[in-house]
Parts: sequence; structure tokens; C-alpha cells
Amino acid sequence: MAQQEDVFKKIVSHAKEYGFVFPSSEIYDGLSAVYDYGQNGVELKNNIKRYWWDAMTLLHENIVGIDSAIFMHPTIWKASGHVDAFNDPLIDNRDSKKRYRADVLIEDQMAKYDEKIAKEVAKAAKRFGEAFDEAQFRATNGRVLDLQARRDALHERFSKAMNDNDLGELRQIIVDEEIVCPISGTKNWTEVRQFNLMFKTEMGSTADGAMTVYLRPETAQGIFVNYLNVQKTGRMRIPFGIAQIGKAFRNEIVARQFIFRMREFEQMEMQFFVRPGEELKWFAQWKEWRLKWHKALGMGDEKYRYHDHDKLAHYANAATDIEFQMPFGFKEVEGIHSRTNFDLSQHQKFSGKKIEYFDPELNQSYTPYVIETSIGVDRMFLSVLCSAYDEEQLPNGETRTVLHLPAPLAPVKCAVLPLVRKDGLPEKAREIVDELKFDFATHYEEKDAIGKRYRRQDAIGTPFCITVDHQTLEDNTVTLRERDSMEQTRVSVDDLHKLIHDRVSLASLLRKLR
Ligand code: ATP
Repeated sequence: MAQQEDVFKKIVSHAKEYGFVFPSSEIYDGLSAVYDYGQNGVELKNNIKRYWWDAMTLLHENIVGIDSAIFMHPTIWKASGHVDAFNDPLIDNRDSKKRYRADVLIEDQMAKYDEKIAKEVAKAAKRFGEAFDEAQFRATNGRVLDLQARRDALHERFSKAMNDNDLGELRQIIVDEEIVCPISGTKNWTEVRQFNLMFKTEMGSTADGAMTVYLRPETAQGIFVNYLNVQKTGRMRIPFGIAQIGKAFRNEIVARQFIFRMREFEQMEMQFFVRPGEELKWFAQWKEWRLKWHKALGMGDEKYRYHDHDKLAHYANAATDIEFQMPFGFKEVEGIHSRTNFDLSQHQKFSGKKIEYFDPELNQSYTPYVIETSIGVDRMFLSVLCSAYDEEQLPNGETRTVLHLPAPLAPVKCAVLPLVRKDGLPEKAREIVDELKFDFATHYEEKDAIGKRYRRQDAIGTPFCITVDHQTLEDNTVTLRERDSMEQTRVSVDDLHKLIHDRVSLASLLRKLR
């Protein structure tokens, strides 16, 4: 575990050193849980967004995009339930003065039971060697059974408390489990209180009578309130989807783990409108499609898992998360929710406008049901970065730090490097750049020894380096170095475009989704 934390620290500092992610307002000592994307980060982020957007809008003829405003009429957040119920239960430790989410403290405690069980199993596996039967061990070992029983009891009690919104019980669980503050090590806890996560601000001058508005905590509501506009003007027929990418804001109580939990972040959400009664079929379909989208990136199928929710929001009838194995454990990257007709019905009620669909096949009107897929751009970015980061031992004893980014997502696709800064090589290299730059993000670099330049490109995940040498001037060939294998092949300048395109184009990735 400690080793994994170490790796994570290295990833965070690598992200800063190579212009991917900077802490916000750094020269003013930063702003907690807010980050800026640097010159390489913004390109990687844009590529992730493009991959999602194209997978939604190009590959599905019944999905269209919108871009709604961040500010919306405040009644929208009454209707959606966010004003009354978008809360986290918080608790303070009186000694350290640190604030925690009560539910997270309890979830961490459950994870501790899991870790203890895993340790017992690993110990026994080592002791028994080949003959070890894990299922039998788990079913019979007294210590494991005891830990499992305590964990299950905790899980049941916790689920009930959360479902009942019972803040007193949440506190009692923390007390009974003897959970201590990780900073002060004490059990000196306050009561548990609800805390609304929405940011508020004022719109209009006070003379006009200012109105309280919220920074949207999700992009989905912008889609729901435009349902009628899009359906009518696009002449959309059910089933159809509306996709949107945009900023969302949440005043998270405990912000930690770098860009995993931010106060300002970006979401890619798609709401898919279906016939009532068909939602679970579509839920299963979108679960499958979304996992396929993740796996097509080739970061390792074993790094993903579904986590089906046993506690459902009151309006949902099915929900699952796609979790990714981060250095700090399997964590939610995307949520897929069957939201029934809750949102559209609420907006119908609060706005007084009829929000229905006339289904010509059924000859009947109804309020559509909705399947939502919701993924955080920043969490996706983090999963890509974590899986790409590698400190590789080379045969000559050196190590190189390399980002094995999926080539279509890489911020820079190729770097053109004249071997020396004379003899007409820079001019020839510039000529090549001037051809490639229209289709690929292309770097030109002439400073430092060639090996050093390769390393710099490895560190930002550039899939190809093109080296121009004296032979280039004679026969118009260059060496093409591939990032992951470090293999160098001699190729004609005329073939560069196709060779690079085949590996880095987004289309090659999208084709895998067919
Ligand atoms: P969590 O349980 O981690 O707070 P959530 O279940 O509240 O997340 P959703 O409301 O389902 O998250 O939001 C959809 C997606 O938006 C999440 O899967 C995640 O990728 C992203 N997301 C949510 N909150 C944040 C945040 N504070 N920072 C970055 N991304 C976020």
C-alpha cells in the first residue's frame, strides 16, 4: 500500500513537472481542490472529450449534443431535489479541527475489514502453498468468519442509516466502531450534520432585487430542461439521447486524492430517453457499451469492474458504477443510472409545462424514462495518467520515465528532431513539421543530445519521434522511433503520414466500438 502511495505521489509531481496539471492559484499558495491544466494536460483532456463526444454523437445517429449554460433558473434545483437533498453528512474532530464525511469514515472502516481478511487469506495461501483452497478457508477459518460477520453487520447498519437519513445513528456507528481521526488519533467527535454541496451566488444588482442562483452541481439538468427543445427542433424519435460536456461545481467537504475529487470539475453526461418499461433493457445495453468504450483504450481489462448499487436514490430503479483501479484502490469513474421519469416529471410539475412524447407507434403520449451515463473528465484523465505512468528498467541499467498513453489521446503525436543543429538538418526537419502539423500535434526540438530529447518525449507520452540525419538529405528517409518498444526503423518521409495516422487517429479507436 505504502508503495502504491509513493507511486501516486510521483504521478502527481510528474503531472506538474511536465505541464499536465498545476495546483490552481499556486503563487498564492493554491486553492484547495481546484486545479489548472497545463499545456500538455489540456491536449490530453481535449482528446478524452473528443473520444467521448465522437463515440456518442458520430456512432449513434439518435444521439445529439447540446451546450447549456452553467447558470440556470434556481427553481430547477428545487425540482431536481438538489436544494433539499444534495447533502453529505459531515462530522468534525474537536482535537484536530478536521472535517470528514461520516459516510466515508465508515466506508474506510469497512475497507479495513476487507484488508484484514485479504491478509489472512494471503498468509494462509503462503503457508499451504499449492494445496490451498481459498473458498474452503474463507468458509471455515474462525478469524476470517468473525471479521466477515463484523463487516457484514456494519454494512447492514450503515446502509440502513443512510437510507433512513439517520444522522444520530451514523455518529453512533463511528463511536461503536471506535473510529479515530487519522490526524489527532482521538475519538472526540462532534454531532453529524447535513451539508449542502451546491455553491450559491447572486445574479443582478441588489437594486433590481438580486436572485440567488447556483453553480450547477451536474450538467444533467441542462439536458432535461432542454428535452422539449431538442426533441421538437431535431424531430427526435424515442429512443434518443442528448449528450453534453461541461463544468460542474460541488463544495466537497473533504477534497483529496488530487484531481479525483475537485470542487470545480468537468462532466460528460448523456441522457437517453426511452419508453416506460424498456428502461432496464437499455440500462443493461448502456452498461455494456460504456465498459467497451473504456476497454477500447487498451489500459488493461482487469483494471475495470462494475459496482452495482444496493442503495438507490429514491428516483432510480437501477444504478451501477464503472470503477477503475487507481493507485489508491478501485474507484468510481463513471455512473450509469436508470432514473425513471423522475426528472422530467418534476420539471413538468414545477414549470407547469407539459413534458411528454407522443409515440406514433403506440399511438400514446407518455413522459419518457431516462438512462443516464455520467463520467467525470478529470477522473478519466487521472485513470489514463495513472495507468500510463511507468518507470521502466532498461537493459543498460538506466531507468526511463514514460507515459504509455493510448496513442490517440497523447497530447503530442510526433516530434521531429534534427540529429545536429547544422548541415541543413534543421531546415529539412522544419519541412517535415510543415507537412505533418496540419493533421497531428507535432513538436520540433533541436536542443540537447538526441537521447535526452527522446526521454523528454517519453515523459509526455509522444508515440513517435522522427529523427532527421545526414542520410535524410541523400535518400529522404528518417528514423521513426516508437515510444513503447523504443524500436527504430528507417522509413521514407513520404510514408510518415500514413504510418502515424494508423496509430494515432481517433477513428482507429472508434472503430473498435463497432
Ligand atoms: P462520489 O460518490 O465519488 O462523490 P458521485 O456518485 O457523487 O461521486 P455522480 O454524481 O454520479 O458522482 O457524478 C458522476 C461522475 O462525475 C462521477 O462518476 C465522477 O467521475 C464525476 N465526479 C463527481 N464528483 C466529482 C468531483 N468532486 N471531482 C471530480 N469528478 C467528480
